[in-house]
Amino acid sequence: MRLHEARHWVFDMDGTLTLAVHDFEAIKRSLDIPLEHDILHHLAALPEEVAAAKYAWLLEHERELALSAEPAPGAIDLVRALKDRDCRLGILTRNAHELALVTLQAIGLGDCFASADILGRDEAPPKPHPGGLLHLAERWQVAPDELVMVGDYRFDLECARAAGACSVLVNLTQNPWPELADHFAEDCAALRSSLVP
Ligand SMILES: [Mg+2]
Repeated sequence: MRLHEARHWVFDMDGTLTLAVHDFEAIKRSLDIPLEHDILHHLAALPEEVAAAKYAWLLEHERELALSAEPAPGAIDLVRALKDRDCRLGILTRNAHELALVTLQAIGLGDCFASADILGRDEAPPKPHPGGLLHLAERWQVAPDELVMVGDYRFDLECARAAGACSVLVNLTQNPWPELADHFAEDCAALRSSLVP
């Protein structure tokens, strides 16, 4: 797909639109989760009463991060430029929906995404599962291959691949997953520059 013609954009949030601040190893240590485990999958497999306390801790920890979130280089300009082109914009995050709203507000993009187009961990299966992207494609009434998924981690790229969407990797100095990324930009500013036809 030619990126400058794309009209339907989905963004990962943490580390893509914001500066990465989550210390996942510290979170795992605090919640007694083996380092090699996936946090959300681990919690989902626990007995409900054990999981509830850990989800509550995670939400509180992430709320503090959300309130002090800072935009990634070029993220504001990129999103505003796409909005000015009347593109549909969505968020697909493993964070919680309410914290995504807090985060987007904190970085100054609170007005750019409709609440129903922000899918958190309770609205969609966690990436790399493609369910969230497929849901947005259906909601926006476009084929999945019309979507562009922008992210900073392999889960974002694998999610795009599984859905049949176009994958864009940002915020790394080089591309460790060339087989998964259709496009690569060092940051959102570089991505925006590449959108000039
Ligand atoms: Mg991320």
